[in-house]
Amino acid sequence: MNCIFCKIRDGEIPSEKVYEDDDVFIIKDIDPKAEKHYLMIPKRHYKLIGDMTDGDAAALMRGIRKIPSLAESLGLTGGYRIIVNQGDDAGQTVFHLHIHIIGGQILDFPDLKKR
Ligand code: AMP
Ligand code: ZN
Repeated sequence: MNCIFCKIRDGEIPSEKVYEDDDVFIIKDIDPKAEKHYLMIPKRHYKLIGDMTDGDAAALMRGIRKIPSLAESLGLTGGYRIIVNQGDDAGQTVFHLHIHIIGGQILDFPDLKKR
C-alpha cells in the first residue's frame, strides 16, 4: 500500500514526531497552516470515519483525550481546534484518517463561500 502516513509510522519517511502511544502518533504538519499545526494519526490504516471499527473509534478517542495533557508541550495552552477532512469537497489529500490539531494563535472561523 502506498500510504505516506503508514510509511511515516514505519519510519520509512522522516517526520517530526512529537508523541506516540499504542493507538496514535502525532507529527508536525510539513506545511503548517497555523502557528502550531500537528497531525494525530491512528496507527491502524483506514481511510475515512465511515471505515472505522468500534475498536478504531475507541483508539482514536483515547488519542484525542490525551491532547489536553500534551497541550503545554505542544504550545497549545491557549486552546486549539481539531479538524478532520473527509473526501474531496473537504480537500482531503491523504487517505489515512488523521486529525489536524491547530493552534498557537487566535483562530478565525473559516471564511467559507458558496462555490
Ligand atoms: P488532508 O488535506 O486533510 O488530507 O491533510 C493532509 C496533511 O498532511 C496536509 O496538511 C499536509 O501538509 C500533510 N502532510 C503531507 N505529507 C506530509 C509529511 N510527509 N509530513 C508531515 N505532514 C505531511
Ligand atoms: Zn496508511
